[in-house]
Amino acid sequence: MTAITHDEMKELAEARREVELMKEHTWCAYCGHEIHIDDEAATKISEHIMACERHPIHIALADNAALRKRCEEAEKVIKAHVLQCRGWLGDGAEWEKYVDSLYALKEAK
Ligand SMILES: [Zn+2]
Repeated sequence: MTAITHDEMKELAEARREVELMKEHTWCAYCGHEIHIDDEAATKISEHIMACERHPIHIALADNAALRKRCEEAEKVIKAHVLQCRGWLGDGAEWEKYVDSLYALKEAK
């Protein structure tokens, strides 16, 4: 067995100190923001994720907002079309006849 040198002892002590420090903190994987691990850590991490410009959740949130906007625009077009069709055909029985005639045309082909 080889004896450990004084410098190696110092290195080991430093490494142990770093490990202990790492147990007390966590870091954002995207920007390196450091958060002390305590009872508030989960809240701080959540707040950081929403504030971190590098976190990929913002890509998903932007996609979600863009898709929501497209859905709302499509819904407006559909509602306008339905209102236009009702203007031509009226509500109720006439509307039902129109839909039935479309199905009849489709089945006849
Ligand atoms: Zn971050």
